[in-house]
Amino acid sequence: MTETTTAPEKKQEQHEFKAEVSRLLHMMVHSVYSEQEVFLRELISNASDACDRLRYAALTAPELLGDDKDFRITIHADPDARTLTITDNGIGMNREDMIENLGTIARSGTNAFLAELTGDAKKDLNLIGQFGVGFYSVFMVATRVEVISRKAGEDKAWRWESDGLGAFKISEAERDSRGTEIRIYLKDEAREFVEAQRLKAVVKKYSDHIPVTISLAVKGKDEETVNTGQALWMRPRSDITKEQYKEFYRHTAHAFDEPWATLHYRAEGVIEYSVLLYIPTQRPFDLFDPARKPRVKLYVKRVFITDDCEDVLPGYLRFVRGVIDSEDLPLNISREMLQHNPVLAKIRKAVTNKVLAELERKSKDAESYARFWDSFGAVLKEGIYEDGERRDKLLKLARFHSTSGDGLTSLDDYVKRMKPDQKAIYYITGDDLASVRRSPQLEGFRARGVEVLLLTDPVDDFWLSMVPEYDGKPFKSVTRGGSELKDLKTGKDDEKDTEKSEVTPGIEALVAAFKEALGDAVKDVRTTDRLTNSAVCLVADEGDMDIHMERILKAHHKLGHTSPRILEINPGHPVIKTLAATVQADAKSETVREAAELLLDQARIVEGEPLPDPAGFAARLSAAIARGFGGG
Ligand code: ADP
Ligand code: MG
Repeated sequence: MTETTTAPEKKQEQHEFKAEVSRLLHMMVHSVYSEQEVFLRELISNASDACDRLRYAALTAPELLGDDKDFRITIHADPDARTLTITDNGIGMNREDMIENLGTIARSGTNAFLAELTGDAKKDLNLIGQFGVGFYSVFMVATRVEVISRKAGEDKAWRWESDGLGAFKISEAERDSRGTEIRIYLKDEAREFVEAQRLKAVVKKYSDHIPVTISLAVKGKDEETVNTGQALWMRPRSDITKEQYKEFYRHTAHAFDEPWATLHYRAEGVIEYSVLLYIPTQRPFDLFDPARKPRVKLYVKRVFITDDCEDVLPGYLRFVRGVIDSEDLPLNISREMLQHNPVLAKIRKAVTNKVLAELERKSKDAESYARFWDSFGAVLKEGIYEDGERRDKLLKLARFHSTSGDGLTSLDDYVKRMKPDQKAIYYITGDDLASVRRSPQLEGFRARGVEVLLLTDPVDDFWLSMVPEYDGKPFKSVTRGGSELKDLKTGKDDEKDTEKSEVTPGIEALVAAFKEALGDAVKDVRTTDRLTNSAVCLVADEGDMDIHMERILKAHHKLGHTSPRILEINPGHPVIKTLAATVQADAKSETVREAAELLLDQARIVEGEPLPDPAGFAARLSAAIARGFGGG
């Protein structure tokens, strides 16, 4: 900061923009983005937010409003001077606010925008349209911008000005009333934004839903009102176009995708409220924020109260955006008083059910629903874990990958495909689909045509620990417990069963030799039908924790130890057959001993578990390779 005059009162300070703002501004100043008009949407949106904020503040401090109780936004255009001025009588900004809000990037949406930048000018320009990028977008059309503002309740006014090239100046200013005036000195190429027709069209297109009157005055002509000025959610559905719904979504959610679903209704009865909710198409950047806060805006009789209230919707619906406007909550309710408020609790309950009913309806279109599921399924599944009351509903809405095909399946469809003797719903959990699909534990199920659900969201292990069954069928991990595969008479696979039951000579001696060689490193060694192509795999004992669950808990330091696994061996595998023959000939064979260790390490690797002794493994493997090449 440098001071250009020394007089303490009228000093002008110069501030550098923060680095990320400079980067953004550089893009804006040099932008050749064709839809520059979005700058107006951003400035009107800010003006309307400023009115909302003052309206809320005035609930507890009515003196902030004084005689000036009607909120409005005015657009003045002066074709001769080539200036455009946007004025509001909202909350205003003081010096600190200006430095904080118009010098840094506070808004996380803009940070998300910067994170998406590729450096490829063409792609990045498209992002401006998608993200909007707020106040700074004014530099697409401006050579210079002045912001003169007086904060409600304060006497002093301040002027912020900048050409968008690295620095801004702040000085004291004069302003008769509260609020903000943004004066834009338009670039020659942007002179269309002084034309009444052009301005009217842009306001209609993007800002018609703004619940504050917007009027337009072009120098020398009469002032006219250009928007409907009524809260969109209070208007009948039949009056609202798709385009208007979309623009309101973008405004209220600070989002730039298309809404995947729009839910608009009015509840009348004991409690009255209006609801306009959206489900986005794309994941918002803060979806996995640990706070898990819902992002729906709560209004009381058209007055914005908060967008930060945990009690509006359950955490597992935090991807929902939009507005709930209550007629019954008291207007002077503080954000703290909303906690455990019985009216809000009833609204939350009813709206949650509505959202789930809408999801159910939309799930009939499998293709579209799969897109929703891909974005938000992992979040919705948290509800299976924590919302006992709606667990069944949520289980019905859930979709899963499985060994039958690449698409998603519902539990109902899985149950329909179950084999006649199949008693359980089989699943495997893991970190990602590709590696789960390769799990050796699936081999026997595949060979018998028994479908297995492939679960790869961290939340899966948690809800599975809460939900014993679906439709009377227990959930069962294929990596745990004894395999009941041989009990599954699946018709066409009968031949395979007889083939399997052929006894491998020496197999019992081999199991005994493995047990002795491995000692405490395993809980048990046994033969299995679980495998067809692999020689060995690890499973957890019936009563023990699932392998993947245990790994998640360990990663989160919730668990210090790992329970020993059961090593299962495939009696039909050539390696096992050879080893069985070896052990028959020489009960104390050193080769078999080493093979036991190698195979256990191999099973650990496939399972994604760390090896307790990587150097020992490498030495044994090298020795085995050397023998294979005739060297040992
Ligand atoms: P966002 O609107 O997403 O917060 P912007 O870049 O559009 O981001 O605006 C930055 C901040 O500047 C706003 O959050 C607000 O605090 C302040 N601001 C912008 N315009 C106004 C205005 N007309 N009145 C009061 N504050 C404003
Ligand atoms: Mg904004």
